[in-house]
Amino acid sequence: MGFLSVLSFAHELAAARIRPGDCAVDATAGNGVDTLFLARAVGPGGRVHAFDIQEAALASTAARLEKELPDGSDRVVLHLASHDEMKLRIPEELHETAAAVMFNLGYLPGADHAVITTPATTLPALEAALELLRRGGVLTIAVYPGHDGGLAEAEAVEAWASGLPQSGFQSMSYRFLNQRNRPPYLLAVEKR
Ligand code: SAH
Repeated sequence: MGFLSVLSFAHELAAARIRPGDCAVDATAGNGVDTLFLARAVGPGGRVHAFDIQEAALASTAARLEKELPDGSDRVVLHLASHDEMKLRIPEELHETAAAVMFNLGYLPGADHAVITTPATTLPALEAALELLRRGGVLTIAVYPGHDGGLAEAEAVEAWASGLPQSGFQSMSYRFLNQRNRPPYLLAVEKR
């Protein structure tokens, strides 16, 4: 049957922790796959805040939501902003309430591959994400070491996750060991 893909495993980790009415964050909306997943998981009373710096990504995300979850637009807030601004952009009453924050790093498939996530903003955004999470909430980060700049970012994120104090967080990785060409893998952090 095979193991779950990296992205499916991220969904499993998030789904296990999200309850109807929750708040969740998609830090890299991209083509909206995770935004849609989170919007379904939090349900009609929930809230999803999704971030991307490219208008094309938010347009693609909006189109996906419109098609797949037509009555769900009121529960999703799209931010044309860098994810390191998430604490400023998300209302303070929602801080420390998020059940899940999901990152899917790298470039937007089908768009300009020169626009990639970079450690200079990814690392502050991850710190902000930890502050938005509630206890028991999960941060998932799909990292892509295969493209130019991707390996350095993956290593920086892995070092960051490895250095989190055990008293406050559990961190782990989920990765395939025998795939060719530096495949993507998952890092995840649960707030205790
Ligand atoms: N690599 C994945 C898709 C990642 S999409 C795959 O192959 O399936 C990553 C998204 O992050 C892109 O849409 C890009 O515009 C966005 N992004 C890049 N820098 C960002 C930032 N600082 N804040 C928020 N989103 C950012």
